Amino acid sequence: MSAELISGKAVAEQMQNEFVSEVSELKEKHGVQPCLAVILVGEDPASQVYVKNKGIACQKIGVKSLEFRKPADFPEADLIQLVEQLNHDAAVHGILVQLPLPKHINETKVLYAVRPDKDVDGFHPVNVGKLMIGEAEFLPCTPAGIQELLIRSGTETKGAEVVVVGRSNIVGKPIAMILCQKQKGADATVTICHTRTKDMKSHTKRADILIVAAGKPKAVTGDMIKPGATVIDVGVNRLESGLCGDVDFETAKEVAGKITPVPGGVGPMTITMLMKNTIKAARLTLKK
Ligand code: NAP
Repeated sequence: MSAELISGKAVAEQMQNEFVSEVSELKEKHGVQPCLAVILVGEDPASQVYVKNKGIACQKIGVKSLEFRKPADFPEADLIQLVEQLNHDAAVHGILVQLPLPKHINETKVLYAVRPDKDVDGFHPVNVGKLMIGEAEFLPCTPAGIQELLIRSGTETKGAEVVVVGRSNIVGKPIAMILCQKQKGADATVTICHTRTKDMKSHTKRADILIVAAGKPKAVTGDMIKPGATVIDVGVNRLESGLCGDVDFETAKEVAGKITPVPGGVGPMTITMLMKNTIKAARLTLKK
């Protein structure tokens, strides 16, 4: 058996096309052009690629994009001052501080400085708390993209056994929290595994939906998957042989019912959900 591919690339394209008309309606009816400010400190190569791709997505959709590129030795106080300045700029709807930040900067302090109603990354504790109680305004982008992929691929989450491998604050914990909400596209029974989990295979083997965000190439193999399960591979690992996920695609695709590829799976959804949050942030200003 070979699993059906869930193409994040195709879903992202479809959603981005939907956003084009939403943005032009916002402009025409309300005179508002959604605006995203991205701050990049230093020259991390992966971050440079992400920021470039964010700019391309903004341009395609009609979202205004502001980029602030700062040197690796940019002081923390100056960075916080820049965030404050953007917090007060009514023309800016979303603020994104590209992670990771250089070691001399306290990431938590900077992320907490972003105004919650401009926190389109969904990392501010106010937004994390709202997610917890089922009242999220901005879901973190990668987990939100995973939920969207499940919905649009027709994967039933209601009553499903979901196993998440990984408990990071940006992927593992939020996707678990999203999928256990008493809501449409959720209502799942969720287990979180991590490096201290005993007999991980006994958990992954019973998952109807297996979400892997371990940051370890091919940590999950076909023998750890329940036949017919939907497998979402969040991992992005750069090996000498090229990009690979946290799931061993070759063995997994023989067992799974549906599976996301790497690249072209979760990756394109992250930027798409960032666009969704930015448009939402702009829309929310109309209510004020
Ligand atoms: P992270 O912060 O390194 O967290 C990894 C988590 O996986 C930790 O909770 C760790 O457990 C757990 N883990 C590691 N190895 C394990 C194993 N063998 N068995 C069980 N659990 C294991 O990583 P992250 O930020 O969540 O990212 C995960 C992956 O997703 C990375 O490859 C990253 O590049 C990718 N990613 C992709 C996107 C995208 O847009 N496509 C976005 C974000 C991240 P402990 O807590 O016990 O250490």
